[in-house]
Amino acid sequence: MEIYADNAATTKLSSSALEEMLPYYESIYGNPSSSHTAGRKAARAVKDARADIAGCLGCLPEEIIFTSGGTESDEQALISAAEEGKRNGKTHIVSTAIEHHAVLNTLEHLRKQGFSVTLLPVGSDGIVSVQDVMRAVRTDTCLVSVMYVNNEIGTIQPISDIGKLCREKKIPFHTDAVAAAAHIKIDVKAQDIDMLSLSAHKFHGPKGTGVLYVRKGLPVTPLIRGGGQERGRRAGTENVPAVVGMACALKEVYRNIDKNSARLARLGEMLINGLKAVPHSALNGSTERVAGNVNFCFEGIEGESLLLLLDSKGIYASSGSACTSMSDEPSHVLRAIGRDDRLAGSSLRISLGDDASEEEVSYIIDNVTRSVEYLRGMSQEWKDKTAGKLRFLL
Ligand SMILES: *Cc1c(COP(=O)(O)O)cnc(C)c1O
Repeated sequence: MEIYADNAATTKLSSSALEEMLPYYESIYGNPSSSHTAGRKAARAVKDARADIAGCLGCLPEEIIFTSGGTESDEQALISAAEEGKRNGKTHIVSTAIEHHAVLNTLEHLRKQGFSVTLLPVGSDGIVSVQDVMRAVRTDTCLVSVMYVNNEIGTIQPISDIGKLCREKKIPFHTDAVAAAAHIKIDVKAQDIDMLSLSAHKFHGPKGTGVLYVRKGLPVTPLIRGGGQERGRRAGTENVPAVVGMACALKEVYRNIDKNSARLARLGEMLINGLKAVPHSALNGSTERVAGNVNFCFEGIEGESLLLLLDSKGIYASSGSACTSMSDEPSHVLRAIGRDDRLAGSSLRISLGDDASEEEVSYIIDNVTRSVEYLRGMSQEWKDKTAGKLRFLL
C-alpha cells in the first residue's frame, strides 16, 4: 500500500486543473502584455482566473495580486503594512508564536529594521486568544498578522473576531490562510480581512503560484520591481498556466468543501481515536482543527525514526512542518503549546487527502502503533521511564 498523508506539505494537482492548464502551454502561449490576438487570449485567461478567485474570496478582482506562492504573499503583506506604518510613525506589529516561517522570518527582518514585534502566545490548545490580541495592540500598531489555520497542528484561529477587533481599531489585519483554503470557505469582506495569503499547491493547484489579497485603498509595496504587471504591485510576466490552474483548483475545492470536510472529519476522528489508544501519547492542539490533520506526540521515541519506519511501509507523513524538517530544531509550534523539547521531537503529523479511505486509516493506525512499540523497545529513554528512573510526561 502507498498512502500519501502529507497534504499539509503539498497536495496532488487536480486533474481538471491540469487539463485546463495544458492549452496555455501548448497553444495559447502568448504574453498577456502583448497586444496581438495571442497575447490578448492569454490576458483574457488571467483576467478570468482573477475574477474567479475574487468570486471565491468575496472581493474585487483588482484586490487580487498573483505571486509566486504563500511565502512571497506573506512577505509582501508584512512589508507593505510595515512601510505604510513607518510613513505614519507606527512601528509596532502584533503576530503569534505559531506563524509559518514565511511570517516569522519577515518579522525578524523588520525587527532588525527597528520595528517592535509582539508575538502572542497560544494556549495548550494551539489557539490564540482574541483578548490577548486586544491587550497587545497599541496606538502605534501598524499591523496585526494571525494565521488562519496552523500548518503543523491544524488548529483554527478566531479570524473573524480578530478581524472585527482590528477594523474597529482601524489597524490593518493580515491572515496567512495558506493552510486554511483547502478546508474553509473564506469571505474577506464578512470577516474584516484586509490582507490574505494563499498558495495554490496547498489546495490541489500547481506549485510556485499564489495570491495576495489586499483590500482596496491599502498601499502595496512591490517586492519585485520591474514591468507594470499586476498594476505595478508585482512585476514579471504572469505565470498564465499556473494562475489558470490555481483558479480551477480553488473553485473545485470550494464546490466540494462541505462534502469532503464531513468525510475527512470522520476519518480524522477515527485516526485520532485509534492513535489515542497508544499509551503515553497525546494529540497536539485542540479538536478545533481542520479535517484530516492529526498531530501526535509519542513519548520516548524520535519522530524522525518513526517517519522512516512508516515510509518503509508506504506511509508518507511528516514530523511537523516540511520547512523545518531539515533542521534539528524542535518545532516552534509544539514548543508554543507547551511541549517540552524532547516530546516535541517525538511528533508525527498526518494530513489526510480527500481520497483517503477507512481502510487506509486502519492501515495507518496499525503501522503507527506497531512502529512506536518497536522504537520504544530500543529506546533508553523509554526503558528509564518504565523503570521509574525518569518521569513520564504524558
Ligand atoms: C506552505 C505554507 C506557506 C508557504 O507557501 P509556499 O507557497 O510553499 O511558499 C506559508 N504559510 C503556511 C501556513 C503554509 O502552510
